[in-house]
Amino acid sequence: MHIFSKKVDLNKYLKDNNLDKSSIGFVPTMGALHAGHLSLLEKSTQNNVTTVISIFVNPTQFNNAEDLEKYPRTLENDVEKIKTISNKILVYAPTVDDIYEGKTKSEHYNFDGLENQMEGKFRPGHFDGVGTVVKRLFEIVKPTNAYFGKKDFQQLQIVKKLVEKEKIPVNIIGCPIFRESNGLAMSSRNERLSAEEKGKAAIIFKTLNNAKTLFGTKSAKSVSDFVSKTFQNHPIFELEYFEIADEATLLHCSRKNKNKKYRAFIAVFVNKIRLIDTISLN
Ligand code: AMP
Repeated sequence: MHIFSKKVDLNKYLKDNNLDKSSIGFVPTMGALHAGHLSLLEKSTQNNVTTVISIFVNPTQFNNAEDLEKYPRTLENDVEKIKTISNKILVYAPTVDDIYEGKTKSEHYNFDGLENQMEGKFRPGHFDGVGTVVKRLFEIVKPTNAYFGKKDFQQLQIVKKLVEKEKIPVNIIGCPIFRESNGLAMSSRNERLSAEEKGKAAIIFKTLNNAKTLFGTKSAKSVSDFVSKTFQNHPIFELEYFEIADEATLLHCSRKNKNKKYRAFIAVFVNKIRLIDTISLN
């Protein structure tokens, strides 16, 4: 396995092996890999000559110091998991300095309003951090195709907008959400949940499914009321937001329009650990 902590070494390896001219698939992650991440890697290895995964806990996208500090960092374990897909995958696990070169600050972006909803509203500065790191990673890796999970659907839309606005020559591919057997969306943050909390957190996806059924006949407002009530009945959870929004603009659905695609988005705290999930409503 080739593991690089410096961009110059990654670039030299790609150049020396003529891989910079091949199709490069890229999977940006923050590590603590699970089957969801591995599914992105699998897709990339199937469709590209070279696959690069980055493992980097990006400080500028965290608005909460404790969340950043407690974010799991498990590089050795991650490398073992990557090997199960292919030992030809190149791992780029940079230091903060290799990415930020002494200035750990975000650029400021205008993503045409996509950044003002949901995650953007509740995590100020989050998408400036995401935009900054994704742009730098794209400049370093120069991928042909980049793979992102629909679990972070707002992030996926924002990355598509970033690429369009900054004219970055890369295809952005959205991939399905991987779940635990009880429906809980896989997440690196799940590692911080107890077995009991993990079991109880099944209610998040169950509620999204109920919301989807209700949305067939009810307004977005009554679906939101139903979701709020559900979480009020389960005091180990604190609902941060539930939102039904237009998939393209991410704007709140106040009146259903048959020609639009809608999606429900949710963020819930379980004992200070923040979990998000989403479901298509069409
Ligand atoms: P993260 O390490 O959480 O930043 O995630 C890295 C990439 O993996 C992002 O594109 C995520 O959307 C994607 N991802 C995370 N969890 C899942 C999941 N359960 N299923 C599919 N993709 C995921």
